[in-house]
Amino acid sequence: MTTESTLQPLTIALTKGRILDETLPLLAQCGLEPLDDPRSSRRLIFEANRPDVRFVVLRGSDVVTYVRQGAADAGIVGKDMLLEHGAQGLYEPLDLGIARCSLQTAGFSASQNLGSRLRVATKFVNIARAHYAAKGIQADVIPLYGAMELAPLMNLADEIVDIVDTGNTLRANGLVPLEHIADVSTRFVVNKAAMRTRHALLTDIISALKDAID
Ligand code: AMP
Repeated sequence: MTTESTLQPLTIALTKGRILDETLPLLAQCGLEPLDDPRSSRRLIFEANRPDVRFVVLRGSDVVTYVRQGAADAGIVGKDMLLEHGAQGLYEPLDLGIARCSLQTAGFSASQNLGSRLRVATKFVNIARAHYAAKGIQADVIPLYGAMELAPLMNLADEIVDIVDTGNTLRANGLVPLEHIADVSTRFVVNKAAMRTRHALLTDIISALKDAID
């Protein structure tokens, strides 16, 4: 019979970038550390300082996909990614409270849109569609993959939907936040099937993370 200790290591998918910078100290507080530094290594899979855990380091949207499909057992990812890509197939047992920011609409302070349909540039196309639809505003959503702030300046869009932390990026480009859509922080997520098959180890990790954030 297969016991939890004879399974392959529990795989935790980490989000690269700002979230990773704030995640690593939290994991270290739980006694969990990758053997190589994922901020400088080109590896994609990282062994941990204990044999029953390993990490993969991905973009946030891919963390959601890996955990949903069960290719990773658990993940650390921004709430923005869960809102945009859906949290079906996942449990979200813990708000880690790190990389806090918000999802906002932004644009010029005085509307430049003279009565036509609103053009909204964003990488959060599902969130944007739902937001404007709920307000009864007809919006054409233009998918972009980076530098959303550029779109109103180049008259590609009237507004953007983006992550705002300090607001400095908006201000530096002559834009202002218009509407708050959601508060965002980083969540620990678990594949629903893995929560059953790897229950003991996952509950240990969740309670260690809870202690670390408290
Ligand atoms: P800020 O100028 O501080 O408002 O930061 C805004 C820019 O930083 C945005 O374009 C975001 O892409 C990025 N950013 C800020 N906070 C986060 C976060 N918690 N997670 C991901 N990206 C972020």
